[in-house]
Amino acid sequence: MAGTALRGRLTWQLAKVVAVTAETASVRTIAVDVPEWPGHQAGQHVDIRLTDEDGYMAERSYSIASAPGEPVALTVERIDDGEVSPYLTDELRAGDSLELRGPIGGYFVWEPEDAGPLLLLAGGSGIVPLRSILRHRERSGSSVPVRLLYSARTLDDVIYQGELDNRAARVEVVYTLTRHQPPGWSGYARRVDPAMLAEVAWPARMTPLAYVCGPTSFVEAASQALVRSGYQPGLVKTERFGGTGGS
Ligand SMILES: Cc1cc2nc3c(=O)[nH]c(=O)nc-3n(C[C@H](O)[C@H](O)[C@H](O)COP(=O)(O)OP(=O)(O)OC[C@H]3O[C@@H](n4cnc5c(N)ncnc54)[C@H](O)[C@@H]3O)c2cc1C
Repeated sequence: MAGTALRGRLTWQLAKVVAVTAETASVRTIAVDVPEWPGHQAGQHVDIRLTDEDGYMAERSYSIASAPGEPVALTVERIDDGEVSPYLTDELRAGDSLELRGPIGGYFVWEPEDAGPLLLLAGGSGIVPLRSILRHRERSGSSVPVRLLYSARTLDDVIYQGELDNRAARVEVVYTLTRHQPPGWSGYARRVDPAMLAEVAWPARMTPLAYVCGPTSFVEAASQALVRSGYQPGLVKTERFGGTGGS
């Protein structure tokens, strides 16, 4: 049985694109129908493979944005000079097919039984697997306290803003806008740093469980700062999306 499930995850299959929704000017959520989907955990990802007419293949990973039990959705940010993401955000349409395998990953996942409180740190599109965790927490009825610190360049770059603000009663959401802030902005206006974490993060004595996701440099800086502030390294889970940062 386990062998069958594993084979399913590692096998490429054709998914059907059900809908493509604009989240921001450069970000799209792609809902897909995967015929042999074994189910997923909050925080896992899939691999996507594109093949051009000459047979050249490019493969990239994308986190699953939806909660376990929900239809699979991916949220992709266009990297302007990228090989794969501009196709996914600009060309892909409902009804198209997409080669995909997964779900993948057993470390950057959250289950309601996991201890808390929860600290979620997102840089840019790093919010994607954290959104799956937030939705899973809500759908499972978990009452574990959660704080989200989300670093974006501008308010227009905040992904799932309406959804996050709707959850505000049950999730403490703190934004930092690193490049441009709207008039009257009272939130943070710089990259995540130790002083910000000292104000926003749960105190280390509460033995929080932290998930840090985004561009590699963001993840390195934020996770190291948490550990230096006393967070247990084994309770700081990280997912690096690549790139040099900017969030
Ligand atoms: C486990 C995992 C999960 C991921 N989940 C998501 C997700 O949910 N949504 C999402 O949009 N991306 C996600 N990524 C990043 C994604 O896999 C690709 O790296 C990204 O879409 C860029 O691919 P590309 O082919 O367009 O660019 P490439 O052709 O690979 O790169 C073009 C240029 O952009 C730079 N670059 C590459 N990746 C990034 C980045 N993430 N940020 C900034 N610059 C970058 C490269 O250094 C290069 O200079 C994830 C990565 C991993 C490893």
